[in-house]
Amino acid sequence: TKKKLFSISKALNEINEIIGKQIFYSNIIMNFNYENKDEELLIYGYENEFKQVLLNLINNAKNKIVENKNEDNKKYKIDINIKRCQNFNTIQIVDDGGKIDEKIINSIFEPYFTTKESGTGIGLYMAKVIIEDKMRGTISVRNDENRVIFTIKLPHKKV
Ligand code: ADP
Ligand code: MG
Repeated sequence: TKKKLFSISKALNEINEIIGKQIFYSNIIMNFNYENKDEELLIYGYENEFKQVLLNLINNAKNKIVENKNEDNKKYKIDINIKRCQNFNTIQIVDDGGKIDEKIINSIFEPYFTTKESGTGIGLYMAKVIIEDKMRGTISVRNDENRVIFTIKLPHKKV
């Protein structure tokens, strides 16, 4: 595929169509939170790859929640926060399914790094390649209390 201008909200709607039901049936609430509903945020890059990255991040969050589910009557959440900061668009994927061990948090983007019995460890590595090498953005992760926050930053394109 080739580079083109695409809308973040449209890409996220398509992602929701692909994965929304699965999330819902896993008893997880997924919210798309736009800081400014009236502003259409555009990215110049690879739309399919971008969607692949987000699907992987959401899947990672979902699978962790489903596996850990220690609090039975807690309603777990995945928040997708979208906003613009000057010349960058930021998309955060936040889950409240428990933090990443600080001992491994600096390794999770490495190829083949996985903590799952049948994991490949390819998803986050590919995310880094797509966002940073192919689309000139950044992707990072941090813990915040019992939440894990992935932040993607990509250059904002004016219409
Ligand atoms: P895989 O899903 O095959 O393990 P990934 O590259 O997608 O490969 O993820 C690498 C590792 O990063 C996972 O095995 C897991 O330990 C950790 N990880 C990824 N996303 C999360 C998350 N939302 N919460 C906690 N740990 C995560
Ligand atoms: Mg994965």
